[in-house]
Amino acid sequence: MPGPGEFELIREYFGSRFNTGARQGSDAHTVALGIGDDCALLNPPAGKVLATSVDTLVAGVHFPAAEDPFRIACRALRVNLSDLAAMNAEPLWFTLALTLRDSDPQWLEPFARGLAQTANQYGITLVGGDTTKGPLSITIQVTGACEQPLRRDGAGAGDRVFVSNQLGAAAAALPLILREVDGSVTQMEQAYAAYHFPEPQFAVARAIGPYASAALDISDGFLGDLGHICEASGLGADLDLDNFPVAELARSMNGETALETALTGGDDYQLCFTLPEKHLQTVQKLQLPITAVGRMRAAAGIQCSLDGKPWQPGATGYRHF
Ligand SMILES: [Mg+2]
Repeated sequence: MPGPGEFELIREYFGSRFNTGARQGSDAHTVALGIGDDCALLNPPAGKVLATSVDTLVAGVHFPAAEDPFRIACRALRVNLSDLAAMNAEPLWFTLALTLRDSDPQWLEPFARGLAQTANQYGITLVGGDTTKGPLSITIQVTGACEQPLRRDGAGAGDRVFVSNQLGAAAAALPLILREVDGSVTQMEQAYAAYHFPEPQFAVARAIGPYASAALDISDGFLGDLGHICEASGLGADLDLDNFPVAELARSMNGETALETALTGGDDYQLCFTLPEKHLQTVQKLQLPITAVGRMRAAAGIQCSLDGKPWQPGATGYRHF
């Protein structure tokens, strides 16, 4: 087990799998020197702003400790990539800090495979890292480049509120993944896909980038995360829940409370964004997988209506594993 600051372990397991330097690929111009020196040397793309974000996942808090390491790695990187997508940033580089109880090859090998597969799929390059000994935790810092950053504080009163795809699948998946309840083969497949392989919404972000006034990724639950846009923009929101996009897994698992799962469940990593009315037609013509769910308003707070009547979710918050 290497001491803090050393990177032999990661280089051994990870080095050959990644596009790690200025040798090949699309990052050739941005990575002047990759893994192996005191620092990586990186060239920011000209004319773009760098977006950077760091996230730590702790075993037993953010993911089940006994979970398959391949899936843990895929989810850890995808969750971080989602933050880049939410800013409309293109992925460039990431660093990895791993805390491990021991350097067990049976854990490291599939973890490295999942990480490399995900990194190569999304075109992000590992440029450095660190390992320490201790209870399992994974810290990933991602950096991307953007031309039209999507911030949380740009929404205006009257802007439409949109969400991408469907919500509630990851929250509905957790009891299945933890084996607290039984599910059909289809439900188990949907659960693993939703929880371990959330899709960072780069395509939607790129398409709405020129038009949206604010955006974020839904990590803690739609209502709470929309609350962040409201707070940052100094506004409130009125929501019409009649056509709210509830995921199939939430419907099949949670029945009557599926809407609530979709509104408050975390971990879906879909986008929530606001769109000024003047861009509505243009964006609707793009035929994106998005649904209009409400409108921003000057008065603070979020009010929901269902079937023309005021509606409030019964439970609040989400289950942080
Ligand atoms: Mg986020």
